[in-house]
Amino acid sequence: MASGPTKSVEHWVDTRDGATGFARLDAEPFPVFEPGWVWLVGAGPGAPGLMSLLCYHALQNCDVVVYDALVNPDILRWVRTGAELEYAGKRGGKPSPTQRDITLRLIELAQAGKRVLRLKGGDPFMFGRGGEECQNLAGSHIPFRVVPGITAGVGGLAYAGMPATHRDTNHSVIFLTGHDASGRMPANVNWEAVAKASPVIVMYMAVKHLSEIAAALLAGGRAPDDPVTILSNASMPQQQVATTTLAGAGDFIRQNDPPTPALVVVGHAADWRTMLDWYRGGLRENRIG
Ligand code: SAH
Repeated sequence: MASGPTKSVEHWVDTRDGATGFARLDAEPFPVFEPGWVWLVGAGPGAPGLMSLLCYHALQNCDVVVYDALVNPDILRWVRTGAELEYAGKRGGKPSPTQRDITLRLIELAQAGKRVLRLKGGDPFMFGRGGEECQNLAGSHIPFRVVPGITAGVGGLAYAGMPATHRDTNHSVIFLTGHDASGRMPANVNWEAVAKASPVIVMYMAVKHLSEIAAALLAGGRAPDDPVTILSNASMPQQQVATTTLAGAGDFIRQNDPPTPALVVVGHAADWRTMLDWYRGGLRENRIG
């Protein structure tokens, strides 16, 4: 086989230009961010380096960014000068805007002819209510694009040396949320089935109800010594990992207050950390990731 560029990439303009290659993204045929559009974009779990090129492009071409609490402020340093920033999360004791408030605001901004970047942590369709926001935009005939992001439950785990799947530990993985729209432990999850279905369970928003969730998984037949990993601020310099077991999880949470945001991982994905925990020491000093 001949070396060099393959046929399939021949149509790309070669913008590789030594040290200036990154700046020359401008020469690439990125989709145009049209006025009156909403781009619903995932920023990744935290580390700015984990944003996609489309996310970067959107930051550079929007008129307004409506962002959530989970978006690392470091990422907002990449917004073009002159774009407005609107925070859509909970702030200092005030009640957080409802989902309806946020959606109405997106519609209002789009109808005013703005290029609206709706920026969310992780992936917008993973426990991020992105689906609901798109439904409302579609219902109001606002054109939109979705830019997926690296979800904390996969990319965040990687920063803690935990592959979400590994042929030796799990051929499947379950992602679930630890609370429902009313803030309670989700009632419509079949915990017994979850306990049996997958060796590794990755839970978002699960710290608050961990005690009840652990009890439900134990009742479903899960082993008491199954490892439980609590991963806080994944992919950021202040990342922290705490470990307990399913039987010990209730007491652990009563006695400790892990920093948030945090994921809870049940299962032997944790075992890989002894070998694969690479994000440590001086590596954490780099703010890009
Ligand atoms: N759309 C997001 C998830 C939103 S739900 C995504 O795809 O990642 C919010 C929950 O995500 C948090 O309660 C926490 O469980 C998890 N989470 C998000 N970012 C995280 C991070 N950097 N470290 C640990 N957990 C995180």
